[in-house]
Amino acid sequence: MDKTFDLIIIGAGPSGLAASVYASRYKLEHLIFGMEDGGQMNEIHQIENWPGNISISGRELVGNFISHVENYGVKINHESVVNLKKIADERFEVETSRGKYVARSVILAMGAEYRRMNIPGEKEFIGKGVSYCATCDAMFFKDKTVAVIGGGNSAAVVALELADFADKVYLIYHGNKLTAEPVWMEKMADSAKITKVDDTGVLEIKGEEKVEKIILDKPHEDKTFLKVDGVFIEIGSEPGVELARKLGIETDDGNYIKVNADQSTSLPGIFAAGDITTGSNKFRQVLTAASEGAIASSSAYKFVKLK
Ligand SMILES: Cc1cc2nc3c(=O)[nH]c(=O)nc-3n(C[C@H](O)[C@H](O)[C@H](O)COP(=O)(O)OP(=O)(O)OC[C@H]3O[C@@H](n4cnc5c(N)ncnc54)[C@H](O)[C@@H]3O)c2cc1C
Repeated sequence: MDKTFDLIIIGAGPSGLAASVYASRYKLEHLIFGMEDGGQMNEIHQIENWPGNISISGRELVGNFISHVENYGVKINHESVVNLKKIADERFEVETSRGKYVARSVILAMGAEYRRMNIPGEKEFIGKGVSYCATCDAMFFKDKTVAVIGGGNSAAVVALELADFADKVYLIYHGNKLTAEPVWMEKMADSAKITKVDDTGVLEIKGEEKVEKIILDKPHEDKTFLKVDGVFIEIGSEPGVELARKLGIETDDGNYIKVNADQSTSLPGIFAAGDITTGSNKFRQVLTAASEGAIASSSAYKFVKLK
């Protein structure tokens, strides 16, 4: 019989890494798997809403998280988890590209990915004007001109959030109608800073060192481009829930794993944390991911040791 660990954590973003720190302190014998140390934190140019650091680069913060995990003698296994199954009561088998491991509990912390537009300039200008997170970056655009791309609720909320800082906000969307809730539509109508650009797509993001303009697929006020300092892409995100689906774990309409207040899922012994879940009021940040990871470890400890 394979060795049985107390816990296996899948994912090495802030939720998985925080879960590991807490698991070590609970003395849970655990493994952590992650293809990329730090997950999405690597993409954050400067993070300015992580309490304790007024401003820190995403990569430096990743280094701090990793040192904290390693301080307890835990090493991250850079293996991709390809399968997860229940093999007995309170025994789960985690299969990676290199082998199979058994644990009494599992924390799913595989994160989510912002949907990309895959247009020229998008990738090059991430952190140099292209953003997927207004909560994180709106304040960098004080008195500037920005574009929000997307036609749903989140695009409307982001446009309003940006209007508190920016001078002008273009909201660009396909079709003639936004699908935002009436309350956001009313607030937008009241804002002199927001200009709706309907039935229009963005073909390219251009600039030298940073974003300077976007190219439209049809003219707006006789021009096929808009001069902007920032582009906020709000076309949704995709949680990495393939492994959870195989186990029949419940998800919501957007494919996020449904969690209870203790981060438990619909399958006893399996917990979930971070961007992949419906937790934290769906406020997907480093802070909330780390917090969910901590709660998930505390719940795994109770599940494995105190039952
Ligand atoms: C450009 C950008 C800027 C941002 N700016 C900010 C900001 O300023 N402030 C803020 O608070 N938040 C910011 N965020 C959001 C923040 O980074 C995320 O909310 C947070 O990283 C989510 O953490 P997580 O642990 O849930 O998942 P992730 O960070 O997505 O990590 C997921 C982990 O799971 C691993 N993984 C996935 N599938 C598998 C598998 N099958 N096997 C093994 N490992 C797997 C990945 O390799 C990775 O290690 C930003 C995000 C982006 C993209």
